[in-house]
Amino acid sequence: MQEPRTVGRLAPSPTGRLHVGHARSFLIAWWSVRAAGGRVVLRLEDLDRSRVRQEYVDGVLRDLEWLGLDWDGVPLSQYESRAALHAAAEDLLARGLAYPCVCTRREVQEAIAAPHAGDVNEVYPGTCRDRFASVQAARAESGREPALRFRVAPGVVEFDDLLHGPQRQDVASVVGDFPITSRDGQVAYQLAVVVDDARQGVNEVLRGDDLLDSTARQGLLQRALGLASPRWGHLGLVVDESGRRLAKRADDLSLERLRDEGVDPRRLVAWIADGFELGAGEPLPAEAWIARFRLPSQPESAIRFDRPELDALLSGRVPAARRSSGPRMS
Ligand SMILES: [Zn+2]
Repeated sequence: MQEPRTVGRLAPSPTGRLHVGHARSFLIAWWSVRAAGGRVVLRLEDLDRSRVRQEYVDGVLRDLEWLGLDWDGVPLSQYESRAALHAAAEDLLARGLAYPCVCTRREVQEAIAAPHAGDVNEVYPGTCRDRFASVQAARAESGREPALRFRVAPGVVEFDDLLHGPQRQDVASVVGDFPITSRDGQVAYQLAVVVDDARQGVNEVLRGDDLLDSTARQGLLQRALGLASPRWGHLGLVVDESGRRLAKRADDLSLERLRDEGVDPRRLVAWIADGFELGAGEPLPAEAWIARFRLPSQPESAIRFDRPELDALLSGRVPAARRSSGPRMS
């Protein structure tokens, strides 16, 4: 049987400016799909209406084009097509795979009574599991608008990561039942990403290591909704001099700033290619690297981007790629 055509996605959140870390993940994801002769779809993860701004939407699209990335078909707005997300949440609720939860974040923290504040993960203690007969009952009995939580069955979820290899997580004991909608009625990231990847036919997801921990939860939702899981690969993060992940508010490292300063995007692309061990330093456009693309079989350590890299780009050079000496961000 013929392998299905690779479909990957670019899924920026227009809730701020994109920075060098986003550029790296998007570029590598795009290379991988284009190297396989596949299709790239674009999705705007724009559900958080309190943070989405039109100037960010415009900026994100300009940034992608500036990097030399293209996509196939019409972009999907999660917000404009949110009915499908709510339908999936309702479906899980109707089948008893989700339940209403009226806990505030603070109540969850108090119920956990972790030995040390901020201890590891917050495992939801199951306060509202089997507590209410229905969403209406939860609302009437608590006087609060409920969230919906996915009911996690005991057991280990296993998947193969393209870079990290075999992974396993016992979601019930590490995370517990997790929200699929919030108390203000917004569909949670984990559910939105699963439903929209399926709607867009995505079968390959390359993204930052910070999302490795979410993957087992997404696998559970896919199974519950009868959706296929994509191939997942988690990439090294871009970190600053102190080893911290670049935050979206790192505006001085934003792609918009680099564009405004007249940086040649081929130099940033060359830095990313060098850090991914595709070849050193030639300032070529994004598409020129497709033929050289290959995924490493090992997880990546984090990559540094800070003052020296910025200075190199601003003065018309290709920065040398530096690995973070710290522990792997996985
Ligand atoms: Zn609850």
